[in-house]
Amino acid sequence: MAAEIRLFTCLTDNFGYLIHDPATKATASIDAPEAAPIIQALEREGWTLTDILITHHHGDHVGGVAELKQKYNCRVVGPHDKSAKIANVDLRAGQGDVVKVGSLLARVLETPGHTLDHISYVFDSEKALFAADTLFSIGCGRVFEGDYPMMWDSLLKLRVLPDDFKLYCGHEYTAANVKFALTVEPDNAALKARAEEVTRLRAANKPTVPTLLGDEKKANVFLRADEPSVAASLRMKGADAAAVFGELRERKNKS
Ligand code: ZN
Ligand code: FE
Repeated sequence: MAAEIRLFTCLTDNFGYLIHDPATKATASIDAPEAAPIIQALEREGWTLTDILITHHHGDHVGGVAELKQKYNCRVVGPHDKSAKIANVDLRAGQGDVVKVGSLLARVLETPGHTLDHISYVFDSEKALFAADTLFSIGCGRVFEGDYPMMWDSLLKLRVLPDDFKLYCGHEYTAANVKFALTVEPDNAALKARAEEVTRLRAANKPTVPTLLGDEKKANVFLRADEPSVAASLRMKGADAAAVFGELRERKNKS
């Protein structure tokens, strides 16, 4: 039986996600920005929280963990401490580890750069990637703790996933990301199509995720730093992809 995935808004622009295994009734929250909307979503569905899968230590991803653990006595899975301590973690996961949510399997990819501890979760059977603040739709996370080559490497780890996988990211930043991406690739047809779609969705107050990884590969300029046309647009012809990626990230920071 296929898993059920729910998404909802937490805090201002974070996404909350629940993934539920109908076979075992196990339910995981991917990150826990704040407890209240997660509890509401669980109660709406009649689900009980069994696991929290944390991606990284930032407050807007772990703020609800203590309260949820207290209420549900759920297991908390998180990355190894590489930058800051995350409280209440029961199981530490790293590259290649497989975490069970009932009968569902989540593969862990280490995707450092935004933070040193950042991990992403891949549910292959569901074709679902939870990439939190590493990869956004048409964007990527700020590089706070790592460096540009490290972050580029992490994006490449996600880019090799199949085109029909869905990207579930940490924030609703898509509209701002599209605006920036168009400054670099004004003639990218996939990006222009995505821009129209995003305008439509936001006008209807609907989330812009999930998106297909195949579409992101075509439209997300941060996944395209090794495209000669992107380098040319930045007047960096021949530069290596990590340097082009770094320039993109710096321009986005200033935009
Ligand atoms: Zn973050
Ligand atoms: Fe975040």
